[in-house]
Amino acid sequence: MTAEIPEILRSDEVDGASDEVDVLVVGFGMAGACAAVEAAEAGARVLVIDRGGAGGSTSAMAGGHFYLGGGTAVQVATGHADTAEQMYKYLEAASPDPDPEKLRLYCDGSVEHFEWLERQGVRFERSYYPGKAVIQPGTEGLMYTGNEKVWPFRDVAEPAPRGHKVPVPGDKGGARMVIELLEKRFRSLGGEIRYETGATGLVTDRRGGVVGARWRHFTESGVIRAAAVVLTAGGYACNPDMVAAYTSRLAHGVTPLGSTYDDGLGIRMGISAGGATRHMDRAFVSAPFYPPPELLNGIVVNKLGNRFVAEDAYHGRTAAYVFQQPDAVAYLIVDSESVGTPRYGTVPFIDGWESVPEMEQELDLPEGSLRGTLEEYNHDAARGADPRFHKHPDWLRPLDVGPWAAYDLTPGKATYVGFTLGGLRTDVDGAVLTETGNPIAGLHAAGACASNIAQDSDGYSSGTRLGEGSFFGRRAGRHAAGAARTTTARGGSRR
Ligand SMILES: Cc1cc2nc3c(=O)[nH]c(=O)nc-3n(C[C@H](O)[C@H](O)[C@H](O)COP(=O)(O)OP(=O)(O)OC[C@H]3O[C@@H](n4cnc5c(N)ncnc54)[C@H](O)[C@@H]3O)c2cc1C
Repeated sequence: MTAEIPEILRSDEVDGASDEVDVLVVGFGMAGACAAVEAAEAGARVLVIDRGGAGGSTSAMAGGHFYLGGGTAVQVATGHADTAEQMYKYLEAASPDPDPEKLRLYCDGSVEHFEWLERQGVRFERSYYPGKAVIQPGTEGLMYTGNEKVWPFRDVAEPAPRGHKVPVPGDKGGARMVIELLEKRFRSLGGEIRYETGATGLVTDRRGGVVGARWRHFTESGVIRAAAVVLTAGGYACNPDMVAAYTSRLAHGVTPLGSTYDDGLGIRMGISAGGATRHMDRAFVSAPFYPPPELLNGIVVNKLGNRFVAEDAYHGRTAAYVFQQPDAVAYLIVDSESVGTPRYGTVPFIDGWESVPEMEQELDLPEGSLRGTLEEYNHDAARGADPRFHKHPDWLRPLDVGPWAAYDLTPGKATYVGFTLGGLRTDVDGAVLTETGNPIAGLHAAGACASNIAQDSDGYSSGTRLGEGSFFGRRAGRHAAGAARTTTARGGSRR
Protein backbone atom coordinates (compact mmCIF):
# COMPACT_ATOMS: atom_id res chain seq x y z
CA MET A 1 0.00 0.00 0.00
CA THR A 2 1.03 3.56 -0.43
CA ALA A 3 0.00 7.04 0.58
CA GLU A 4 1.43 8.44 -2.63
CA ILE A 5 -0.51 10.97 -4.65
CA PRO A 6 -1.03 9.64 -8.19
CA GLU A 7 0.28 11.65 -11.09
CA ILE A 8 -1.99 13.83 -13.17
CA LEU A 9 -2.08 13.23 -16.91
CA ARG A 10 -2.42 16.40 -18.97
CA SER A 11 -5.15 16.14 -21.57
CA ASP A 12 -2.82 17.24 -24.39
CA GLU A 13 -0.66 14.19 -23.61
CA VAL A 14 -3.61 11.83 -24.09
CA ASP A 15 -3.22 9.70 -27.16
CA GLY A 16 -6.80 8.66 -27.87
CA ALA A 17 -9.52 7.74 -25.40
CA SER A 18 -11.43 4.49 -24.96
CA ASP A 19 -14.66 6.35 -24.17
CA GLU A 20 -16.13 9.81 -24.15
CA VAL A 21 -19.00 10.35 -21.70
CA ASP A 22 -20.77 13.13 -19.85
CA VAL A 23 -20.25 11.75 -16.35
CA LEU A 24 -17.71 9.20 -15.16
CA VAL A 25 -18.46 7.74 -11.73
CA VAL A 26 -15.47 6.13 -10.02
CA GLY A 27 -16.73 3.46 -7.61
CA PHE A 28 -20.16 1.81 -7.31
CA GLY A 29 -20.71 1.81 -3.55
CA MET A 30 -23.71 3.54 -1.95
CA ALA A 31 -22.52 7.03 -2.88
CA GLY A 32 -21.52 6.09 -6.44
CA ALA A 33 -24.71 4.15 -7.10
CA CYS A 34 -26.85 7.10 -6.01
CA ALA A 35 -24.73 9.54 -8.04
CA ALA A 36 -24.93 7.33 -11.12
CA VAL A 37 -28.72 6.92 -10.93
CA GLU A 38 -29.31 10.66 -10.46
CA ALA A 39 -26.91 11.64 -13.24
CA ALA A 40 -28.55 9.16 -15.62
CA GLU A 41 -32.02 10.35 -14.62
CA ALA A 42 -30.88 13.88 -15.44
CA GLY A 43 -30.19 12.67 -18.99
CA ALA A 44 -26.41 12.38 -18.85
CA ARG A 45 -24.43 9.60 -20.57
CA VAL A 46 -22.98 7.93 -17.49
CA LEU A 47 -20.24 5.35 -17.24
CA VAL A 48 -19.29 3.72 -13.92
CA ILE A 49 -16.00 1.96 -13.33
CA ASP A 50 -15.34 -0.10 -10.21
CA ARG A 51 -12.27 -2.03 -9.18
CA GLY A 52 -14.29 -4.80 -7.57
CA GLY A 53 -15.89 -7.76 -9.26
CA ALA A 54 -19.33 -6.60 -8.09
CA GLY A 55 -20.87 -3.43 -6.77
CA GLY A 56 -20.74 -2.15 -3.28
CA SER A 57 -17.64 -3.52 -1.60
CA THR A 58 -17.83 -1.79 1.80
CA SER A 59 -21.40 -0.63 1.33
CA ALA A 60 -22.44 -4.22 0.66
CA MET A 61 -20.95 -5.23 4.04
CA ALA A 62 -22.96 -2.61 5.93
CA GLY A 63 -25.77 -3.65 8.22
CA GLY A 64 -28.01 -1.20 6.44
CA HIS A 65 -28.70 1.71 8.80
CA PHE A 66 -29.59 5.00 7.15
CA TYR A 67 -29.74 7.98 9.51
CA LEU A 68 -32.91 9.76 8.44
CA GLY A 69 -35.57 11.78 10.20
CA GLY A 70 -37.77 14.82 10.25
CA GLY A 71 -40.97 12.75 10.08
CA THR A 72 -40.35 9.77 7.80
CA ALA A 73 -43.19 7.33 7.16
CA VAL A 74 -41.58 4.85 9.60
CA GLN A 75 -41.30 7.47 12.33
CA VAL A 76 -44.91 8.49 11.80
CA ALA A 77 -46.22 4.92 11.65
CA THR A 78 -44.43 3.98 14.87
CA GLY A 79 -45.55 7.10 16.74
CA HIS A 80 -42.23 8.95 16.95
CA ALA A 81 -42.58 12.69 16.53
CA ASP A 82 -39.63 14.29 14.76
CA THR A 83 -38.96 17.46 12.80
CA ALA A 84 -36.18 18.61 10.52
CA GLU A 85 -35.43 21.32 13.08
CA GLN A 86 -34.91 18.85 15.96
CA MET A 87 -32.78 16.66 13.71
CA TYR A 88 -30.70 19.70 12.74
CA LYS A 89 -30.22 20.73 16.37
CA TYR A 90 -29.07 17.24 17.28
CA LEU A 91 -26.64 16.83 14.39
CA GLU A 92 -25.28 20.33 14.90
CA ALA A 93 -24.59 19.61 18.58
CA ALA A 94 -23.01 16.24 17.70
CA SER A 95 -20.58 17.65 15.10
CA PRO A 96 -17.25 19.18 16.08
CA ASP A 97 -17.26 21.36 12.95
CA PRO A 98 -20.86 21.59 11.74
CA ASP A 99 -21.47 22.83 8.22
CA PRO A 100 -24.82 24.64 8.59
CA GLU A 101 -25.65 24.56 4.88
CA LYS A 102 -25.05 20.83 4.48
CA LEU A 103 -26.83 20.01 7.73
CA ARG A 104 -29.82 22.13 6.76
CA LEU A 105 -30.13 20.43 3.38
CA TYR A 106 -29.68 16.98 4.87
CA CYS A 107 -32.31 17.49 7.57
CA ASP A 108 -34.81 19.37 5.40
CA GLY A 109 -34.36 16.81 2.62
CA SER A 110 -34.39 13.72 4.80
CA VAL A 111 -38.05 12.75 4.28
CA GLU A 112 -37.76 13.23 0.51
CA HIS A 113 -34.58 11.15 0.53
CA PHE A 114 -36.31 8.38 2.48
CA GLU A 115 -39.11 8.41 -0.10
CA TRP A 116 -36.58 8.33 -2.95
CA LEU A 117 -34.92 5.25 -1.42
CA GLU A 118 -38.32 3.59 -1.18
CA ARG A 119 -39.04 4.48 -4.80
CA GLN A 120 -35.90 2.54 -5.75
CA GLY A 121 -37.56 -0.51 -4.21
CA VAL A 122 -36.37 -0.50 -0.56
CA ARG A 123 -39.36 -0.89 1.72
CA PHE A 124 -38.43 0.02 5.30
CA GLU A 125 -40.57 -1.96 7.72
CA ARG A 126 -43.05 0.23 9.65
CA SER A 127 -41.88 -1.15 12.99
CA TYR A 128 -39.71 -0.05 15.91
CA TYR A 129 -37.10 -1.88 17.98
CA PRO A 130 -37.23 -0.37 21.48
CA GLY A 131 -34.13 -2.07 22.92
CA LYS A 132 -30.60 -0.75 23.30
CA ALA A 133 -28.54 -2.57 20.69
CA VAL A 134 -25.97 -1.90 17.99
CA ILE A 135 -28.44 -2.90 15.30
CA GLN A 136 -31.98 -4.25 15.23
CA PRO A 137 -31.78 -8.03 15.65
CA GLY A 138 -34.69 -8.53 13.24
CA THR A 139 -36.12 -6.54 10.37
CA GLU A 140 -37.56 -3.70 12.45
CA GLY A 141 -37.39 -0.49 10.46
CA LEU A 142 -36.41 1.93 13.21
CA MET A 143 -34.34 2.27 16.39
CA TYR A 144 -32.14 4.74 18.25
CA THR A 145 -28.64 4.56 16.76
CA GLY A 146 -26.94 7.59 18.25
CA ASN A 147 -26.67 9.73 21.37
CA GLU A 148 -30.10 11.37 21.07
CA LYS A 149 -31.14 10.29 24.59
CA VAL A 150 -27.66 10.85 26.02
CA TRP A 151 -26.65 14.02 27.88
CA PRO A 152 -26.03 16.77 26.75
CA PHE A 153 -27.84 16.00 23.49
CA ARG A 154 -31.19 15.19 25.10
CA ASP A 155 -31.24 18.73 26.52
CA VAL A 156 -30.41 20.30 23.14
CA ALA A 157 -32.89 18.49 20.90
CA GLU A 158 -36.02 16.45 21.45
CA PRO A 159 -34.81 12.82 21.17
CA ALA A 160 -36.13 10.79 18.23
CA PRO A 161 -35.02 7.45 16.77
CA ARG A 162 -33.55 7.92 13.29
CA GLY A 163 -31.74 4.65 12.54
CA HIS A 164 -33.74 3.29 9.57
CA LYS A 165 -32.69 -0.21 8.63
CA VAL A 166 -33.40 -2.10 5.44
CA PRO A 167 -35.58 -5.20 6.02
CA VAL A 168 -32.76 -7.73 6.31
CA PRO A 169 -32.38 -9.39 9.73
CA GLY A 170 -29.59 -8.27 12.06
CA ASP A 171 -26.22 -7.22 10.71
CA LYS A 172 -26.18 -9.48 7.66
CA GLY A 173 -25.02 -6.90 5.10
CA GLY A 174 -28.49 -5.49 4.46
CA ALA A 175 -27.21 -2.55 2.43
CA ARG A 176 -26.24 -4.95 -0.38
CA MET A 177 -29.93 -5.12 -1.20
CA VAL A 178 -29.98 -1.37 -1.84
CA ILE A 179 -26.90 -1.54 -4.08
CA GLU A 180 -28.53 -4.30 -6.13
CA LEU A 181 -31.72 -2.28 -6.56
CA LEU A 182 -29.74 0.80 -7.57
CA GLU A 183 -27.71 -1.21 -10.06
CA LYS A 184 -30.91 -2.48 -11.65
CA ARG A 185 -32.32 1.03 -11.80
CA PHE A 186 -29.10 2.46 -13.26
CA ARG A 187 -28.94 -0.18 -15.99
CA SER A 188 -32.60 0.39 -16.81
CA LEU A 189 -31.70 4.04 -17.46
CA GLY A 190 -29.09 2.92 -19.98
CA GLY A 191 -26.09 3.29 -17.68
CA GLU A 192 -23.03 1.07 -18.05
CA ILE A 193 -20.88 -0.40 -15.26
CA ARG A 194 -17.45 -1.89 -15.87
CA TYR A 195 -16.26 -4.02 -12.99
CA GLU A 196 -12.65 -5.01 -12.31
CA THR A 197 -11.74 -1.67 -13.85
CA GLY A 198 -9.99 0.76 -11.53
CA ALA A 199 -9.27 4.44 -12.00
CA THR A 200 -5.54 5.03 -11.54
CA GLY A 201 -5.31 8.81 -11.96
CA LEU A 202 -7.09 11.90 -13.24
CA VAL A 203 -6.73 13.75 -16.52
CA THR A 204 -6.83 17.56 -16.43
CA ASP A 205 -7.05 20.31 -19.03
CA ARG A 206 -4.78 23.36 -19.38
CA ARG A 207 -6.59 25.21 -16.59
CA GLY A 208 -6.45 22.31 -14.16
CA GLY A 209 -10.07 21.26 -14.63
CA VAL A 210 -10.74 17.52 -14.58
CA VAL A 211 -11.65 16.05 -17.98
CA GLY A 212 -11.32 12.33 -17.43
CA ALA A 213 -9.47 9.50 -15.78
CA ARG A 214 -6.98 6.79 -16.54
CA TRP A 215 -8.17 3.23 -15.96
CA ARG A 216 -6.75 -0.27 -15.69
CA HIS A 217 -8.44 -3.64 -16.28
CA PHE A 218 -5.91 -6.41 -15.54
CA THR A 219 -3.26 -5.80 -18.23
CA GLU A 220 -5.29 -3.35 -20.30
CA SER A 221 -5.30 0.37 -19.62
CA GLY A 222 -6.65 3.53 -21.19
CA VAL A 223 -8.26 6.91 -20.69
CA ILE A 224 -11.92 7.85 -20.40
CA ARG A 225 -12.77 11.42 -21.31
CA ALA A 226 -15.63 12.90 -19.28
CA ALA A 227 -17.15 16.33 -18.86
CA ALA A 228 -17.45 15.55 -15.14
CA VAL A 229 -15.89 12.94 -12.86
CA VAL A 230 -17.50 11.87 -9.58
CA LEU A 231 -15.11 10.26 -7.09
CA THR A 232 -17.00 7.77 -4.93
CA ALA A 233 -14.20 5.29 -4.32
CA GLY A 234 -14.59 4.95 -0.54
CA GLY A 235 -12.36 5.67 2.46
CA TYR A 236 -8.90 4.43 3.48
CA ALA A 237 -9.27 2.33 6.63
CA CYS A 238 -7.49 -0.56 4.92
CA ASN A 239 -4.46 1.43 3.77
CA PRO A 240 -1.95 1.29 6.68
CA ASP A 241 0.31 3.88 5.07
CA MET A 242 -2.48 6.44 4.78
CA VAL A 243 -3.75 5.58 8.26
CA ALA A 244 -0.23 6.15 9.64
CA ALA A 245 0.11 9.42 7.73
CA TYR A 246 -3.27 10.90 8.63
CA THR A 247 -5.27 9.07 11.29
CA SER A 248 -3.15 7.97 14.24
CA ARG A 249 -6.33 7.04 16.16
CA LEU A 250 -6.80 4.04 13.84
CA ALA A 251 -3.15 3.06 13.79
CA HIS A 252 -2.96 1.44 17.25
CA GLY A 253 -5.19 -1.26 18.63
CA VAL A 254 -7.95 -0.85 16.03
CA THR A 255 -8.92 -3.40 13.38
CA PRO A 256 -9.90 -1.69 10.13
CA LEU A 257 -13.51 -2.17 9.15
CA GLY A 258 -13.89 -2.17 5.40
CA SER A 259 -12.90 -3.82 2.16
CA THR A 260 -9.47 -4.13 0.56
CA TYR A 261 -10.50 -1.38 -1.86
CA ASP A 262 -10.62 1.11 1.02
CA ASP A 263 -7.13 2.33 0.17
CA GLY A 264 -7.96 6.02 -0.25
CA LEU A 265 -7.01 6.18 -3.91
CA GLY A 266 -10.12 8.24 -4.66
CA ILE A 267 -9.12 10.81 -2.02
CA ARG A 268 -5.55 10.83 -3.33
CA MET A 269 -6.77 11.37 -6.87
CA GLY A 270 -8.81 14.34 -5.61
CA ILE A 271 -5.71 15.74 -3.87
CA SER A 272 -3.71 15.30 -7.09
CA ALA A 273 -6.09 17.71 -8.84
CA GLY A 274 -5.76 20.32 -6.07
CA GLY A 275 -8.61 19.18 -3.82
CA ALA A 276 -8.36 20.03 -0.13
CA THR A 277 -9.27 17.53 2.60
CA ARG A 278 -11.11 17.85 5.88
CA HIS A 279 -11.06 15.84 9.13
CA MET A 280 -8.45 13.37 7.89
CA ASP A 281 -7.34 12.79 11.49
CA ARG A 282 -10.81 11.57 12.49
CA ALA A 283 -12.12 8.03 12.67
CA PHE A 284 -15.06 6.04 13.90
CA VAL A 285 -13.89 3.51 16.52
CA SER A 286 -15.85 1.02 18.55
CA ALA A 287 -15.83 -2.04 20.77
CA PRO A 288 -19.50 -2.38 21.65
CA PHE A 289 -20.01 -4.00 25.08
CA TYR A 290 -23.81 -3.99 24.71
CA PRO A 291 -26.09 -5.81 24.04
CA PRO A 292 -27.12 -7.25 26.45
CA PRO A 293 -28.46 -3.89 27.65
CA GLU A 294 -28.09 -4.82 31.36
CA LEU A 295 -24.37 -4.16 30.99
CA LEU A 296 -25.22 -0.48 30.57
CA ASN A 297 -26.08 -0.48 34.28
CA GLY A 298 -22.35 -0.88 34.90
CA ILE A 299 -19.75 1.85 35.10
CA VAL A 300 -16.66 2.37 32.96
CA VAL A 301 -13.50 3.45 34.76
CA ASN A 302 -9.95 4.30 33.69
CA LYS A 303 -6.67 3.11 35.26
CA LEU A 304 -7.14 5.67 38.05
CA GLY A 305 -10.46 4.10 38.98
CA ASN A 306 -12.40 7.15 37.76
CA ARG A 307 -15.44 7.26 35.51
CA PHE A 308 -15.08 9.38 32.37
CA VAL A 309 -18.22 8.94 30.23
CA ALA A 310 -21.95 8.39 30.59
CA GLU A 311 -22.05 4.63 30.09
CA ASP A 312 -25.34 4.76 28.17
CA ALA A 313 -23.59 6.65 25.34
CA TYR A 314 -23.57 5.25 21.80
CA HIS A 315 -20.70 2.72 21.59
CA GLY A 316 -18.64 4.94 19.26
CA ARG A 317 -18.76 7.79 21.77
CA THR A 318 -17.70 5.58 24.69
CA ALA A 319 -14.83 4.29 22.54
CA ALA A 320 -13.71 7.81 21.68
CA TYR A 321 -13.47 8.65 25.38
CA VAL A 322 -11.56 5.44 26.12
CA PHE A 323 -8.82 6.58 23.74
CA GLN A 324 -8.49 9.83 25.70
CA GLN A 325 -7.73 8.06 29.01
CA PRO A 326 -4.25 7.49 30.47
CA ASP A 327 -2.71 4.66 28.39
CA ALA A 328 -6.23 4.13 27.01
CA VAL A 329 -6.89 1.66 29.83
CA ALA A 330 -10.58 1.12 30.61
CA TYR A 331 -12.72 -1.39 32.49
CA LEU A 332 -16.43 -2.03 32.56
CA ILE A 333 -17.43 -2.80 36.15
CA VAL A 334 -20.69 -4.56 36.98
CA ASP A 335 -22.30 -6.20 39.99
CA SER A 336 -24.01 -9.59 39.95
CA GLU A 337 -27.34 -8.04 38.90
CA SER A 338 -25.87 -6.45 35.77
CA VAL A 339 -23.53 -9.16 34.59
CA GLY A 340 -23.99 -10.53 31.05
CA THR A 341 -22.15 -11.82 28.01
CA PRO A 342 -21.39 -9.14 25.41
CA ARG A 343 -23.15 -10.13 22.20
CA TYR A 344 -20.20 -9.24 19.99
CA GLY A 345 -17.62 -11.11 22.06
CA THR A 346 -15.09 -8.36 21.49
CA VAL A 347 -14.88 -7.20 25.11
CA PRO A 348 -13.25 -9.91 27.27
CA PHE A 349 -14.48 -10.83 30.71
CA ILE A 350 -11.58 -10.50 33.19
CA ASP A 351 -12.88 -12.06 36.41
CA GLY A 352 -15.32 -11.84 39.28
CA TRP A 353 -14.51 -10.87 42.90
CA GLU A 354 -16.29 -11.17 46.24
CA SER A 355 -15.30 -7.65 47.26
CA VAL A 356 -14.52 -4.32 45.62
CA PRO A 357 -11.09 -3.97 47.34
CA GLU A 358 -10.05 -7.33 45.83
CA MET A 359 -11.15 -6.21 42.38
CA GLU A 360 -9.35 -2.89 42.81
CA GLN A 361 -6.13 -4.70 43.71
CA GLU A 362 -6.36 -7.24 40.87
CA LEU A 363 -7.00 -4.50 38.31
CA ASP A 364 -4.06 -2.53 39.72
CA LEU A 365 -6.19 0.54 40.40
CA PRO A 366 -4.99 3.03 43.05
CA GLU A 367 -6.04 1.92 46.52
CA GLY A 368 -9.48 3.21 47.43
CA SER A 369 -10.14 4.69 43.99
CA LEU A 370 -12.76 2.24 42.74
CA ARG A 371 -14.32 2.03 46.19
CA GLY A 372 -14.71 5.84 46.20
CA THR A 373 -16.08 5.90 42.67
CA LEU A 374 -18.63 3.18 43.42
CA GLU A 375 -19.68 4.76 46.72
CA GLU A 376 -20.43 8.05 45.02
CA TYR A 377 -22.11 6.40 42.02
CA ASN A 378 -24.27 4.13 44.18
CA HIS A 379 -25.29 6.97 46.45
CA ASP A 380 -26.42 9.11 43.49
CA ALA A 381 -27.94 6.20 41.55
CA ALA A 382 -30.12 5.30 44.53
CA ARG A 383 -31.84 8.67 44.11
CA GLY A 384 -31.95 8.35 40.29
CA ALA A 385 -29.24 10.93 39.64
CA ASP A 386 -25.78 11.08 38.07
CA PRO A 387 -24.56 14.65 38.60
CA ARG A 388 -21.12 13.91 37.15
CA PHE A 389 -21.99 12.39 33.76
CA HIS A 390 -25.79 12.60 33.58
CA LYS A 391 -26.30 8.96 32.68
CA HIS A 392 -29.95 8.48 31.79
CA PRO A 393 -32.09 7.36 34.76
CA ASP A 394 -33.10 4.26 32.70
CA TRP A 395 -29.62 2.86 33.35
CA LEU A 396 -29.03 4.08 36.88
CA ARG A 397 -29.04 1.40 39.56
CA PRO A 398 -26.70 1.09 42.53
CA LEU A 399 -24.05 -1.57 41.85
CA ASP A 400 -24.23 -2.99 45.35
CA VAL A 401 -25.03 -6.68 44.90
CA GLY A 402 -21.79 -8.67 45.01
CA PRO A 403 -19.89 -10.41 43.66
CA TRP A 404 -18.55 -7.83 41.21
CA ALA A 405 -16.96 -8.39 37.82
CA ALA A 406 -14.87 -6.51 35.28
CA TYR A 407 -14.54 -6.58 31.49
CA ASP A 408 -11.50 -5.25 29.70
CA LEU A 409 -12.32 -2.31 27.44
CA THR A 410 -8.67 -1.47 26.80
CA PRO A 411 -7.84 -1.30 23.06
CA GLY A 412 -5.74 -4.33 22.20
CA LYS A 413 -7.49 -6.40 24.89
CA ALA A 414 -10.93 -5.53 23.61
CA THR A 415 -11.19 -5.71 19.83
CA TYR A 416 -11.80 -2.23 18.52
CA VAL A 417 -12.89 -1.81 14.91
CA GLY A 418 -12.95 1.44 13.00
CA PHE A 419 -13.07 3.31 9.74
CA THR A 420 -11.90 6.69 8.54
CA LEU A 421 -14.16 9.73 8.51
CA GLY A 422 -12.05 12.33 6.71
CA GLY A 423 -12.12 13.01 3.00
CA LEU A 424 -12.18 15.57 0.24
CA ARG A 425 -13.55 19.01 0.98
CA THR A 426 -16.76 19.45 -0.99
CA ASP A 427 -19.59 21.95 -1.31
CA VAL A 428 -23.25 21.01 -0.90
CA ASP A 429 -23.34 19.67 -4.47
CA GLY A 430 -20.28 17.50 -4.06
CA ALA A 431 -17.99 19.82 -6.05
CA VAL A 432 -14.44 19.26 -4.78
CA LEU A 433 -12.99 22.47 -3.34
CA THR A 434 -9.44 23.73 -3.13
CA GLU A 435 -7.96 24.98 0.14
CA THR A 436 -9.12 28.50 -0.79
CA GLY A 437 -12.67 27.23 -1.36
CA ASN A 438 -12.78 27.31 -5.16
CA PRO A 439 -14.49 24.42 -6.95
CA ILE A 440 -12.30 22.35 -9.24
CA ALA A 441 -14.02 22.26 -12.64
CA GLY A 442 -15.27 18.81 -13.55
CA LEU A 443 -14.57 17.17 -10.18
CA HIS A 444 -17.08 15.91 -7.61
CA ALA A 445 -16.85 13.56 -4.65
CA ALA A 446 -19.22 11.90 -2.21
CA GLY A 447 -19.45 9.11 0.36
CA ALA A 448 -16.40 8.03 2.32
CA CYS A 449 -14.23 9.85 -0.26
CA ALA A 450 -15.59 13.17 0.98
CA SER A 451 -16.01 14.94 4.29
CA ASN A 452 -19.62 15.76 5.05
CA ILE A 453 -21.62 15.13 8.22
CA ALA A 454 -19.85 12.22 9.95
CA GLN A 455 -16.85 13.89 11.52
CA ASP A 456 -15.78 11.99 14.61
CA SER A 457 -16.56 9.00 16.77
CA ASP A 458 -17.84 11.07 19.74
CA GLY A 459 -20.79 12.38 17.74
CA TYR A 460 -21.30 9.56 15.23
CA SER A 461 -24.66 7.83 14.87
CA SER A 462 -25.05 4.54 12.99
CA GLY A 463 -26.49 5.21 9.59
CA THR A 464 -24.79 8.57 9.04
CA ARG A 465 -22.36 7.12 6.50
CA LEU A 466 -24.96 5.47 4.27
CA GLY A 467 -27.36 8.35 4.89
CA GLU A 468 -25.01 11.15 3.90
CA GLY A 469 -23.27 9.06 1.21
CA SER A 470 -26.56 8.40 -0.56
CA PHE A 471 -27.91 11.91 0.00
CA PHE A 472 -24.84 13.86 -1.11
CA GLY A 473 -24.08 11.19 -3.73
CA ARG A 474 -27.38 12.02 -5.36
CA ARG A 475 -26.61 15.74 -5.26
CA ALA A 476 -23.14 15.14 -6.73
CA GLY A 477 -24.62 13.06 -9.57
CA ARG A 478 -27.22 15.68 -10.41
CA HIS A 479 -24.71 18.50 -10.29
CA ALA A 480 -22.17 16.59 -12.37
CA ALA A 481 -24.85 15.98 -15.01
CA GLY A 482 -25.67 19.69 -14.98
CA ALA A 483 -21.99 20.62 -15.31
CA ALA A 484 -21.68 18.20 -18.24
CA ARG A 485 -24.69 19.82 -19.94
CA THR A 486 -23.12 23.26 -19.54
CA THR A 487 -19.85 22.04 -21.07
CA THR A 488 -21.69 20.49 -24.03
CA ALA A 489 -23.75 23.65 -24.55
CA ARG A 490 -20.50 25.63 -24.70
CA GLY A 491 -19.44 23.54 -27.65
CA GLY A 492 -17.89 20.25 -26.62
CA SER A 493 -15.53 18.91 -24.07
CA ARG A 494 -12.78 20.78 -22.23
CA ARG A 495 -9.41 19.68 -23.56
C1 LIG B 1 -19.28 -4.14 8.55
C2 LIG B 1 -19.69 -2.72 8.29
C3 LIG B 1 -20.97 -2.30 8.65
C4 LIG B 1 -21.36 -0.99 8.41
N1 LIG B 1 -22.64 -0.62 8.71
C5 LIG B 1 -23.05 0.62 8.39
C6 LIG B 1 -24.42 0.99 8.50
O1 LIG B 1 -25.29 0.18 8.81
N2 LIG B 1 -24.76 2.28 8.23
C7 LIG B 1 -23.84 3.21 7.83
O2 LIG B 1 -24.20 4.36 7.61
N3 LIG B 1 -22.54 2.87 7.65
C8 LIG B 1 -22.14 1.60 7.88
N4 LIG B 1 -20.85 1.26 7.66
C9 LIG B 1 -19.98 2.25 6.99
C10 LIG B 1 -20.39 2.32 5.52
O3 LIG B 1 -20.65 1.02 5.04
C11 LIG B 1 -19.35 2.97 4.61
O4 LIG B 1 -18.86 4.15 5.18
C12 LIG B 1 -20.02 3.28 3.28
O5 LIG B 1 -20.57 2.09 2.75
C13 LIG B 1 -19.10 3.93 2.29
O6 LIG B 1 -19.80 4.02 1.07
P1 LIG B 1 -19.10 4.59 -0.20
O7 LIG B 1 -20.06 4.49 -1.31
O8 LIG B 1 -18.53 5.91 0.09
O9 LIG B 1 -17.85 3.63 -0.43
P2 LIG B 1 -17.78 2.06 -0.75
O10 LIG B 1 -18.98 1.33 -0.38
O11 LIG B 1 -16.48 1.63 -0.18
O12 LIG B 1 -17.69 2.03 -2.31
C14 LIG B 1 -16.56 2.45 -3.00
C15 LIG B 1 -16.45 1.68 -4.29
O13 LIG B 1 -15.35 2.20 -5.02
C16 LIG B 1 -14.61 1.14 -5.59
N5 LIG B 1 -13.26 1.66 -5.82
C17 LIG B 1 -12.29 1.91 -4.92
N6 LIG B 1 -11.22 2.42 -5.53
C18 LIG B 1 -11.51 2.51 -6.85
C19 LIG B 1 -10.81 2.94 -7.99
N7 LIG B 1 -9.57 3.43 -7.90
N8 LIG B 1 -11.42 2.87 -9.20
C20 LIG B 1 -12.68 2.36 -9.32
N9 LIG B 1 -13.38 1.93 -8.27
C21 LIG B 1 -12.81 2.01 -7.04
C22 LIG B 1 -14.73 0.01 -4.61
O14 LIG B 1 -14.54 -1.25 -5.24
C23 LIG B 1 -16.16 0.20 -4.10
O15 LIG B 1 -17.09 -0.58 -4.83
C24 LIG B 1 -20.44 -0.06 7.86
C25 LIG B 1 -19.16 -0.47 7.50
C26 LIG B 1 -18.80 -1.80 7.67
C27 LIG B 1 -17.45 -2.24 7.20
